[in-house]
Amino acid sequence: MTRTLDKTITVAVAGNPNSGKTTIFNSLTGARQHVGNYPGVTVEWKKGTCKRGDVKLDLVDLPGTYSLTAFSEEELVARDYLLNAAPDVVVNVVDASNLERNLFLTTELLEIGRPLVIVLNMTDVAHDRGLRIDTARLAEKLGVPVVPAIGNRGVGMDDLVEAVMQVAISNASLPGPARVCGESGPGPSTLAIVESRGGPTRVNYGHQVEKVISEIEDLLPEGEHRRWRAIKLVSQDDKVVEGLAVPGTREAITGLAASFAAESNDEPDILMARLRYEFIADICQGVCRVPAIAQTTVSDRIDRVVMHPVWGVPIFLGLMYFAFTLTFSLGNPLMNLIDSGFGYLAGFMSGLWSPGSTSPLKSLIVDGIIGGVGGVVIFLPNIVLLFMAIAILEGTGYMARAAFVMDRFMSKVGLHGKSFIPLLIGFGCTVPAIMATRTLESRRDRLITMMVLPLMSCGARLPIYALMIPAFFPARMQGPALWAIYVTGIILALGGAYVLRSTLFRGENTPFLMELPPYRMPTAASLLVQMWTRAWLYVKKAGTVILGASILLWFLTFYPKPPADYILPAGFDNTTSDSAMVFSEITDPNLARSAELSYSVTGRVGRMLEPLIKPLGFDWRIGTALVGAIPAKELFVAQMGIVFAVGEADETSDQLRAQLRDRYTPLIGFCIMLFALIATPCIATFAITRQEAGSIKWAFAQSFGLTALAWIVTFLVYRGGLLAGLGGG
Ligand code: GDP
Ligand code: MG
Repeated sequence: MTRTLDKTITVAVAGNPNSGKTTIFNSLTGARQHVGNYPGVTVEWKKGTCKRGDVKLDLVDLPGTYSLTAFSEEELVARDYLLNAAPDVVVNVVDASNLERNLFLTTELLEIGRPLVIVLNMTDVAHDRGLRIDTARLAEKLGVPVVPAIGNRGVGMDDLVEAVMQVAISNASLPGPARVCGESGPGPSTLAIVESRGGPTRVNYGHQVEKVISEIEDLLPEGEHRRWRAIKLVSQDDKVVEGLAVPGTREAITGLAASFAAESNDEPDILMARLRYEFIADICQGVCRVPAIAQTTVSDRIDRVVMHPVWGVPIFLGLMYFAFTLTFSLGNPLMNLIDSGFGYLAGFMSGLWSPGSTSPLKSLIVDGIIGGVGGVVIFLPNIVLLFMAIAILEGTGYMARAAFVMDRFMSKVGLHGKSFIPLLIGFGCTVPAIMATRTLESRRDRLITMMVLPLMSCGARLPIYALMIPAFFPARMQGPALWAIYVTGIILALGGAYVLRSTLFRGENTPFLMELPPYRMPTAASLLVQMWTRAWLYVKKAGTVILGASILLWFLTFYPKPPADYILPAGFDNTTSDSAMVFSEITDPNLARSAELSYSVTGRVGRMLEPLIKPLGFDWRIGTALVGAIPAKELFVAQMGIVFAVGEADETSDQLRAQLRDRYTPLIGFCIMLFALIATPCIATFAITRQEAGSIKWAFAQSFGLTALAWIVTFLVYRGGLLAGLGGG
């Protein structure tokens, strides 16, 4: 019998976090993969393909979970996919060095009833620890094929593909529900893997519980996964209860489940979990042999140092410092290279027009397009290096320790220990920081971190401070003013996280359960794949959303153009008297550009906002510059230069500073910085939040929420300052 299958086999890779799923997925698919979010949620997942002969495998790397309860978004995604997408084969990656705990998920997968292949991964680690696992007995007891493997060395991958194909073929040829590799399996097996005989085993929950399960099962409408649903109903799984459509049955079933819950001593879900573990203990009997004496492993010894109650934090901070300085010292020369590349391009393009030309097309190409994309691509070296550093920290297993060490502090504000790293990166640039939230497993932690991240004062805000602080503060006050801005951002971020955790993201706290994987040497291939996918994601963003937004916002600062007979508003030009001025009579090009900006959509919005920002001490000029700085925070300085008709200002512009000093008090100057720190993050942040949060809703929530927060905080500071008599100047 020839083994041909005219269709693609869909394969879902499931397993506990850190069991080696992604490693196996990568080694099967290579670069043929695609990273994204599961539709509608913030859970990352990957798809990829693998070709063997004339058969194609379509693989999905499901999020790592310890079970399939309705506890977390990851679990819901995994089970939703398994139930509804019904993959042809489920590959369950099991960490052999931690067999009992990993089998918990396996028993749930058995209940879902999709054809299953178990990969007994990390057999090298298990072996080193003196664990012996009888693969044949395990396969026999579970009733599914078991493939021993060492994922990071590619050992067992061919056997795995072979097993997947066999399981798929034998299931395709059998009508009805899943039955795995019976004696009638196709062809003689030449595999090293161990095959099962007689179909998947089912968990036996004992006489009493089995009775309730079958009673509920009888009440359930026909359809797939009846036993699974019955078991979930006994455990009072909210999502499955919600799914009960028929009203009469619903009451009957919830009644049965409730009376069972009342009779048992434990909560039903805890009881079910205990019975599951009893079943697993039974399976492991005679399958695993554990060494008599527990050895102290190298991992244990390293942990004694890096997780030391006193030294843990300084070691972590030191490593982060090292990673960041390396990122920037290696990245900056490359950044300069890219910068001069774009500078050259801009110079070349401007050269196509006569010098001093004010052609809108020139400005669109040079400032709008080249400036917009250049401003984003320039971060690429840093992003690639940063992600390499993170990939190394994760790959070696240190990240889990760092999270553990930092969790003591972070949990006080309701953040996960791992959130610390994105927050730290946020001081550099919010965009890679938001991408770095991917190291957080829980969607809730990820969203909270993303929402507050823009409050970590990024590098693009520095030019604003560099302009404003010397304008308003004497030398001895400059350091403290800068410090106050940064600290305000940090306090607001942590406070914001706390508030979000106790309001919008309330609900059951997932128990803090973090696994400390043994230290490992990450493979170069997996580091490269991670770097490449992140960098590509970033470039794609720069090429599409950010370019589009920069062009649009560029238009809004140039159009509509004022007509020649446009009469400037009284007091527009702060140097002359209040006699009205006509646009065509302006000779100073800076003043003309300023008038243009004031007439453009941006200027109008700035003016329209005046009543709203007046309580903060701001006038329309600041409003206009703030609106003009939405594409990128550092644009604020240039916009201020235009508004104040001093030409293209930079952060060292003394002329602009003099104007600012003339017009505003130091209190207002501080408030401007405060507002620029907190309000609307830049377009790139908006775009990346939308992508990473999986919905534009979160990006809007972030922008509006932060702008509202900026208003409130600035208002309080301004009014408080006035009351304290700081309004003078
Ligand atoms: P996932 O969370 O299940 O996707 O796990 P990963 O694929 O990210 O693997 C976690 C770590 O285990 C990585 O550092 C891998 O290189 C490593 N790893 C994967 N398989 C094996 C294995 O069989 N033996 C050893 N020693 N390490 C492995
Ligand atoms: Mg993974």
